[in-house]
Amino acid sequence: MSNTRNPNAIIDKSSPVGRFAPTPSGDLHFGNVLCALLAYLSVKSRGGKFIVRIEDLDKARCNAASAERAIDILARLGMHSDEPPIYQSERSNFYGEKVDALEKAGLTYPCFCTRSELLSATAPRLSDGGVVYSGACRNLNDAQKSELYKSRKPCTRVRVPDEDIVFEDKVKGEIRQNLAQRCGDFIVRRSDGVYAYQLAVAADDGDSGVTEVVRGDDLATSAPRQIWLMKFFGYTPPTYCHIPLVCDSHGRKLSKSDGDAVSYNLLRLPKERILGALAFSAGLTDADGTATLEELIETFSWDRINRNSIRLPDILCR
Ligand code: GLU
Repeated sequence: MSNTRNPNAIIDKSSPVGRFAPTPSGDLHFGNVLCALLAYLSVKSRGGKFIVRIEDLDKARCNAASAERAIDILARLGMHSDEPPIYQSERSNFYGEKVDALEKAGLTYPCFCTRSELLSATAPRLSDGGVVYSGACRNLNDAQKSELYKSRKPCTRVRVPDEDIVFEDKVKGEIRQNLAQRCGDFIVRRSDGVYAYQLAVAADDGDSGVTEVVRGDDLATSAPRQIWLMKFFGYTPPTYCHIPLVCDSHGRKLSKSDGDAVSYNLLRLPKERILGALAFSAGLTDADGTATLEELIETFSWDRINRNSIRLPDILCR
């Protein structure tokens, strides 16, 4: 049986649905919290629904405590998920159905390439550090596959069309990417059986009726793959808002691994002070003071969001 969350639900397209989807491989930093805040304000300013989704597919990298702390930090600031949080680790059957659908359409193939083969010097490099897949395993015949199966475990790739995907990002403006040339056939299931981020995100955003995705700039290059997958699955792609890099007060990029996690010490600040500082850094208010969620919902506008980089005020930095 399908474990699609709402198999019979009629999604009300007129009501905006936003989401915050942290990967609990470490604790949230204030850049993540700001992303959640903008996602929350944007849908709430239009009477919509806010969902939290925990992207814990890669069990080796994720931990339950970080997921709990993420939900707790949002709750302390007043941002509650309007539905029980979704855990990707519980939805493998659903992702499996999506990969089966791609397979039935003849769009998938096993890829046996090793990491070093993929990173070969001749592979074109992408701006996000990835490489365009060469297509080495695209047309293997059955005999070649059987031979390779003896010594290697393949991942599953999806064949992408030589097609431009174009969308209007609310922050960055028009984004255009040719899937075949700028990305290549991409992985939907890893060789260890874990479903890939692109597949899971497209399936979940579609299944939850998400109408607006707010997240960091670094994921803007993923949106075309997700839009293409969502259309294949019959979903309407959301609007995207990729927000600029969030830095500390010295201009250093925040990172989960650099000890930037939101500390409980900082959470002792009044929540209106934290919200005020976050809103100011994003460009939503004129002064670094206090603000309530209600006030911010009232005045929220994407037109005010800083387009270049976002610097957190001192008060939110270590
Ligand atoms: N899970 C991703 C992260 O924590 C975000 C995914 C998304 O918003 O699409 O970076």
